[in-house]
Amino acid sequence: MAVPQLALFWTVCLLPGHLALPLSREAGDVSSLQWEQAQNYLRKFYLHDSKRKEGNGNSLVIKLKEMQKFFGLPMTGKLSPRTVEIMQKPRCGVPDVAKYSLMPGSPKWQSRKVTFRIMSYPSDLPRLTVDQIVAKALRMWSEQIPLNFRRVRWGTADIMIGFATGDHGDSFPFDGPGNTLGHAFAPGPGLGGDAHFDGDEQWTDGDGDGAEVNFLYAATHEFGHSLGLSHSSVPESVMYPTYKNGHPKDFGLTEDDIEGIQRLYDIPDARPTSLLKLVPSNERHIK
Ligand SMILES: [Zn+2]
Ligand SMILES: [Zn+2]
Repeated sequence: MAVPQLALFWTVCLLPGHLALPLSREAGDVSSLQWEQAQNYLRKFYLHDSKRKEGNGNSLVIKLKEMQKFFGLPMTGKLSPRTVEIMQKPRCGVPDVAKYSLMPGSPKWQSRKVTFRIMSYPSDLPRLTVDQIVAKALRMWSEQIPLNFRRVRWGTADIMIGFATGDHGDSFPFDGPGNTLGHAFAPGPGLGGDAHFDGDEQWTDGDGDGAEVNFLYAATHEFGHSLGLSHSSVPESVMYPTYKNGHPKDFGLTEDDIEGIQRLYDIPDARPTSLLKLVPSNERHIK
């Protein structure tokens, strides 16, 4: 797949007609600000496939029902308080209606060796801490599949990792503190595999509380996309789209995440760690 999934989604999103009719006023009893936020949310995270016509005015209600279905809410098509509450949570910037599984040959890394490079750092975490967290997050995945991650310090890596604010050159500008925390691209050339984090967040390696966001949580989630996973609707999973506060010591992949990544990389029931191979290199690697 030559074109990163996210870029493809964005192209679809910009097709004429998507700015058409707003949600019906009967869709719920909410403020006009909440109306606007809900419409922006649905347009950003619930993208239509190109075959569906958008001109009938029900498109946002259909998206709203899709969103409610994804989050396990009653599919009323109305903006209930619980629906609005979920829409306001900090989350990943990758859409929930992913089509990875519909693309010919689900995107994944074909080589056992995948390189990564840390391009930039946030202002509120020491570089060494960021390095260690990136290593730990990648290791969580590589313990489940026969991939080796190898760090490179120059040139182009498969997974380019960086912190950026606002518009940062990939048509998916970040939005300041809160809301979108990061995004990543499915495996492929160019932007494929790259993971970006919003430099306007307050990143922490401790308990993410209030305005602070735990970097290990966000990194592990985004690297799931970098490996080819889309969002899961299982609330406990790492690949659930909204960010959860919690204690880093308790954090790890769930059964759902492991099942997803092992299915994608064709791992049978056998213990996957036995398939791992050492990288014959003096460059730092993670396994
Ligand atoms: Zn995500
Ligand atoms: Zn980006």
